[in-house]
Formats: sequence, C-alpha cells, structure tokens
Amino acid sequence: MRDELIKIKDLIKVYGQEIKNEVLHGFSLAIKRGEFVSIIGPSGSGKSTLLNILGTLDTATSGQIIINGEDISDFDEMRLASFRNKNIGFVFQFHHLLPEFSAVENVMMPSWIEKGSAVDDFKERAYNLLDLVGLKGFEEKLITKLSGGQKQRVAVARALMNEPAILMADEPTGNLDSETTMKVYNLLRDINKELNTTFIIVTHDRHLAAKSDRVIEMIDGNIDRDIYKGKKGEDEEWQGLAPVYCRELNSVKVENQ
Ligand code: ADP
Ligand code: MG
Repeated sequence: MRDELIKIKDLIKVYGQEIKNEVLHGFSLAIKRGEFVSIIGPSGSGKSTLLNILGTLDTATSGQIIINGEDISDFDEMRLASFRNKNIGFVFQFHHLLPEFSAVENVMMPSWIEKGSAVDDFKERAYNLLDLVGLKGFEEKLITKLSGGQKQRVAVARALMNEPAILMADEPTGNLDSETTMKVYNLLRDINKELNTTFIIVTHDRHLAAKSDRVIEMIDGNIDRDIYKGKKGEDEEWQGLAPVYCRELNSVKVENQ
C-alpha cells in the first residue's frame, strides 16, 4: 500500500557471535504515514532493539526493511547514515544536547553537520522550530540555563530540523516529572497533527501509550498485541491499557456532548 511508510518482514535479530542470543524472533509489521505508535513491553523484551533497527542505528540479522519506499535491508553503513539523516529524527531519554552551545545552535547542529557552514540559512528554520515547541524567547539561552522539560523540547526541535518523515523516541520522558511528561507528550501529538510526522515511541508508561493511535506490545522478542484506538472490537482491550486514564477520557467525552 502506498501510505505504508515502514514495512518490515520476518525481522530477526541475533546478538553475539559465539554465544548467540536471539532477541527478535521473526515478525512482520507495517506502519502508515502519520501514525502515532507507542511500543510498550517489559524490560528486555526487545523494544530498543526494534527501534534501533527501524531507526537504522543498528542492522537486523535477517528480514526485510522498507522505509519510505526504499529497501534498506542491504544498505551499508554509509548509505544508512545518509538515509537516516534525511528521513529519521531521534529523541532519547537523555537529551544529548551540547551544553556549551545555545538552544538555537543545538537545533541547527544536524544541518551544520550535514551541509556545512551556511548558518544563516538554518537559523530561521531553527527559530521557527523553537517557536513550535514553545520556546520562543529562549533561542539564544545556553542549554545549561534551561529546565529539564525545556531541554527535551530543544531535543524535539533538533530532531525535526532535517524535516524527517519519522520521529523516533526511546523513553523520551523517562527522565522528567509527570506534569512535564504530559506536556512533552502533548507537544509530540501536536507536531504529529501539524506536520503529519510519523511517531514511534518506546515507553514503559501505559498511561502515555494510551494517548497514541496505536499500541504495540512486545513480549520476549515478539509482538504480543497490536491494537488501535477506536477500532471496533478493540475498545475493551484499549481501555485495559490504562483503565483510570481511559475512564477519565470517556467522562470528558460525555461532558462535552
Ligand atoms: P528493552 O528495550 O525492551 O528493555 P532491549 O532491546 O534493550 O530491550 O534488549 C533486549 C535483549 O537484547 C536483552 O536481553 C538485552 O540484554 C539484549 N541486548 C540489547 N542490546 C544488546 C547488545 N548491544 N548486545 C548484546 N545483547 C543486547
Ligand atoms: Mg530499552
């Protein structure tokens, strides 16, 4: 299908040469353009391994991976790196920003690295992105002067700098308090709606996952379930993800009617 942005088939990942540890056991999965997907599951179930392979930071042992119409399964390091820069943005648990630079310089960094020194061309876009993530007025502040939530917003802006089709995040709010977590997650949802960027987010927080369009649960290297919000027949299972939160959502719906 045309709107399938990511398609994987029979994905297997084995770590180790002598002592082999098969971590992903061969599953298939398709993700559509514009979807907001959360990946949940116990620690060690293979969430990060899957995300790193989808993000081209790591390669599979076997299986096919098609992203944005390109079969990247046999790409070498160089081609993967260039594909990644063009198509994928990352947000990590620890923001990995450079403390001796300002917010706007950090946001421009991917373009600096990719395209060289035409700084002024990037600055306007970086300013716009910082505005988008709610940091207007903070552009020239040093990273060390920003709060945890603000830093993670800068990391989101930086991930969007090269206009990626896909934004991936591994526990992006794992280091933040619950109120800031909600704010950052709401920001990601807003960007998803505004730019139609596809989101794939690994989280251990079911409360957050229930804010997605789709939840994939991994158990022991397999997809244990794959459910969609609002899909007929899956409502009960969806509400089971985060019962209290889903009840709150429903009562809001009722009040609004
Ligand atoms: P999760 O993100 O769900 O906690 P991971 O994908 O990090 O799970 O890990 C899945 C399994 O793969 C674990 O048993 C882990 O020890 C193993 N693993 C992850 N990364 C590596 C690696 N670089 N080398 C060897 N084993 C790894
Ligand atoms: Mg992990």
